[in-house]
Parts: sequence; structure tokens; C-alpha cells
Amino acid sequence: MRVQWCWRCKAEVPMLDENEFASVAELHREAIRGAKEFRQRFGAPLEQASFDEHFRPVRLRYEQLTGMKDCHQNAIMHHRISMYGRPCESCGKPLRTPSAKLCGACMHPVQSIDNEQKSREPHP
Ligand SMILES: [Zn+2]
Ligand SMILES: [Zn+2]
Repeated sequence: MRVQWCWRCKAEVPMLDENEFASVAELHREAIRGAKEFRQRFGAPLEQASFDEHFRPVRLRYEQLTGMKDCHQNAIMHHRISMYGRPCESCGKPLRTPSAKLCGACMHPVQSIDNEQKSREPHP
């Protein structure tokens, strides 16, 4: 777990590493399965409240891992460190994607660590 800036929540939130995320994702899959079964059995979509109730184990697991209470399950599913890039050299916020070329916060260009860009950049 690592606290870092979330672009969607616009806040610093606890993000999960791959092991932590795997255990949360498993519970999330079960919750979706449970919600689907409910819908098939009763032939009607769940009310929002009972829909959310299915996802309670997801929120509890996230709370166990991070100490953050009642984070919405949809938010939890994007609190995964590997979905974002490394921290911007200028402002420290994580890049929006691992392959971003610019920081989404301060527009600082990302210094490429691989050779992919070098050939295209003019050098005086
Ligand atoms: Zn978020
Ligand atoms: Zn930046």
C-alpha cells in the first residue's frame, strides 16, 4: 500500500500493490457474481443500496489493507499502483498512465528512461 494522488478522486488515497489488489479484485468478482444471481432470481435489478451491500467485503478488505473506511468499490478498483506511472519529476504526482509523455498536473515532459523517444527528438 502506498498513498498517492488519484486522478479520478482528486485526492491522496491509499493505492494497492499487485498482491493487495489481487485479494480485493477476487472479492469484487464474487460480489458481481452475487449481484448477478440476485438479479436472475428476482428478475429485477438491485436497488442501489442492496447492490452496494454485495460489495461490502470489498470495502472491508480495502479498509483492512489501508485503514480507509467506506471507500466506494468503484473507486477501490482504480486504486492500483500499477495503473499509474512513476512520480512526476517536477510535482511528484504519479503519471496518469505508465506510458504518459507529459505530467497531467503540471505538463512537465517525462524524461524517457528507455530509448524509444531518443531517435525522434532533435539534438542540436
Ligand atoms: Zn480514486
Ligand atoms: Zn508534474
